[in-house]
Amino acid sequence: MKIGIPRALLYYKNEKLWTKFFDELGIDYIISPETTKETIENGSKYAIDETCLPIKIFLGHIDYLKDKCDYIFLPRIERAQDRETCLNFRAQYDLVKNAFRDYNLNILFYNDMGHKEHKEEKAFKKLCKYLHIKKSIGKYAYKIAKQTQMYYEMFRSENQENILKSTKKPKVLILAHAYNIGDKYIGEPIIHMLEKLGVQPIIAEYFDHKKCVKESNKVTKTLPWSYNRHLVGALELYKDAVDGAVILTTYPCGPDSMCNDMMVRDYKDIPLITLTIDAQDGSAGLETRLESFTDILNYKRNNNNE
Ligand code: SF4
Repeated sequence: MKIGIPRALLYYKNEKLWTKFFDELGIDYIISPETTKETIENGSKYAIDETCLPIKIFLGHIDYLKDKCDYIFLPRIERAQDRETCLNFRAQYDLVKNAFRDYNLNILFYNDMGHKEHKEEKAFKKLCKYLHIKKSIGKYAYKIAKQTQMYYEMFRSENQENILKSTKKPKVLILAHAYNIGDKYIGEPIIHMLEKLGVQPIIAEYFDHKKCVKESNKVTKTLPWSYNRHLVGALELYKDAVDGAVILTTYPCGPDSMCNDMMVRDYKDIPLITLTIDAQDGSAGLETRLESFTDILNYKRNNNNE
């Protein structure tokens, strides 16, 4: 049996958990390659016009995997840190079943609905039952996989904190979802552009999730989406430690349009720029805007040092 894992959406939040789990169980898997322009073109064929770019990318990855594995792995994750996730993460299964109805795809999933204790662990237990894996073996594989994911996140978070303290370069906090900043087509060009301009990118997504979501309560009581709360909390926590912030978003996104507007209105004391990536242009033309933005940061820095 071979499982196909799309390199898209929540893969960027659960990579270690998923791959270590299958490694421990000795289950073969394939991860679709990095996103390219072709991935987006292929995914767009299955999407309606209003679909957001990350979902078009996701469908492009499914298109790649559709005839290369026995099952496509598509968990439904309804909540994170006791908050809602975007509806698209709950709808992945149905979305794929409908868009690829001519291919009769087999989908492997677990449902993490987030409203009971040990929700994720229970969901993995059910997944193991479906795969006819002995309870104790499945439990051990999940434990090891969960630990691996946790250590990875801890390491990443500590690393960001260390860079923040030690670098002498101007620091820019990048506020972007995991699947945007982690994607080769969306996030990587922005990181490279900033580095070329002599700026140190600080990735909000890499900071401790619990801490950031908790901090977001100081800013808003009503924002429903966990992953957006993470970004708001990171901005609140690190606003005094960075020189500016880049809101990196994809078109069109309901949660981001509301949350980004709120951040721009609420954080007037920190230089903020919003960059929107769409399926047609990608990051083309953004270099000039980032150049002007870093000029402002450098000017502000020099003035403060005088
Ligand atoms: S949060 Fe926005 S970008 Fe992400 S899946 Fe939902 S609509 Fe798409």
